[in-house]
Amino acid sequence: MAKRRVKVEKSEKMGAQVYYRKWRPQTLAEVVGQDHVTQTLRNALKTGRVAHAYLFCGPRGTGKTSTGRILAKAVNCLKGGKGEPCNACAICQAITEGHAIDMVEIDAASNRGIDEIRELRERVRYAPSMAKYKVYIIDEVHMLTEPAANALLKTLEEPPPHVMFVLATTEPHKVPLTILSRCQRFDFKRIPQDAMVTRLAGICAGEDLHIEDSSLKLIARSATGSMRDAENLLEQLVAYYGTDIKLDQVQAMLGITGDVRAQELARHIVDKDIAAGLQTINSVTQDGLDLRQFNRELVEYLRGLLLIKAGAAAAIDLPPEALSEMKGLAETAPMSQLSKAARLFRQVELEFDGFSPLPLELAMVECALPEGKPAMPATPATPATPIKAKKTEVEPVTTPAPTEEKPATPIKAKNTDADPVCAPAPTEEHPATPAPGE
Ligand SMILES: [Zn+2]
Repeated sequence: MAKRRVKVEKSEKMGAQVYYRKWRPQTLAEVVGQDHVTQTLRNALKTGRVAHAYLFCGPRGTGKTSTGRILAKAVNCLKGGKGEPCNACAICQAITEGHAIDMVEIDAASNRGIDEIRELRERVRYAPSMAKYKVYIIDEVHMLTEPAANALLKTLEEPPPHVMFVLATTEPHKVPLTILSRCQRFDFKRIPQDAMVTRLAGICAGEDLHIEDSSLKLIARSATGSMRDAENLLEQLVAYYGTDIKLDQVQAMLGITGDVRAQELARHIVDKDIAAGLQTINSVTQDGLDLRQFNRELVEYLRGLLLIKAGAAAAIDLPPEALSEMKGLAETAPMSQLSKAARLFRQVELEFDGFSPLPLELAMVECALPEGKPAMPATPATPATPIKAKKTEVEPVTTPAPTEEKPATPIKAKNTDADPVCAPAPTEEHPATPAPGE
């Protein structure tokens, strides 16, 4: 328990995320944009047919662990009814406040879960102390080490009746099949913009913020389906501008976190100008801008170039002047280069509160490097000839070597002869020294 509390404090220090925690959904009905999941869960709760293990897959910030917590409350709620937690009883409150003994949250990403899974294996057979079910929520379950995953699997194979597992992951393809097959799987989707705007409007009403719908749409768009990112953006805006937020302020904040420089970096990528590219990344970092947001805009821009190149410009929702500029850039770049760049920057993983631009810098450098496949046969071919040349140089050296060895042996022979000569010499000296004393 003490361990868990320390972890929470650590994550709190990393960033404010006040809205994210404060406005966390507390009922299945409040979970945004995942009706296909919440409806099924509600039915299962109503009919008492809950599974022993669930696997929640989907992008970050889509409500996986929040839903896990709600589920933990709903199965244990003392008033329990209608497939939702009451959020008023002792157990519901303990879970909401994060001090319920019978709900354990494990973050497999932090230490790969070795200690926690070992502890879980030991404790899982004991009945819950207060609640009906002991609920284990294991976040980023794909990060578990192999021994930890195996230990978990053993528990999943024969789950005690009083235990429920909620496994969450952003990368289900990395979860061992043996674990996947024992869970009821739900796929969380990126939250649609409309649903996100509605939720943001609710938060604004609750926080007494004055902000137009068009601004909320802009926030929702840049959060690309992650409610957590949208809430954090809103929080940043309030920290910057206060509770009255104008559209141009939102544009300014989103604008300064990218647009121009994302476009600039895209040009350097097309030109394969590493120095200029690194300079752009450096200036974005130095201004303390959100690198994740910047990278998103860059990827979105590269995607636009790719679509134009593929003749699908109609799919891009941009004003005509911006579009014609992109067309100019897309013309100068081959399709393979654009797809490589989009892929590399899409794979860049930046922590929300991390300030290291290294992943971006690496992607920039890799973009400018020659293509992997054609480079492979070319590189060994060129050094192969100098290696042969060296060998032929070495060979004449080795042949004269034995001729040097031959004179070397007589020298050694002379030395061995010399040694006995030197050895008796001091014996002659010794009697010589006492001689003057006599
Ligand atoms: Zn309750």
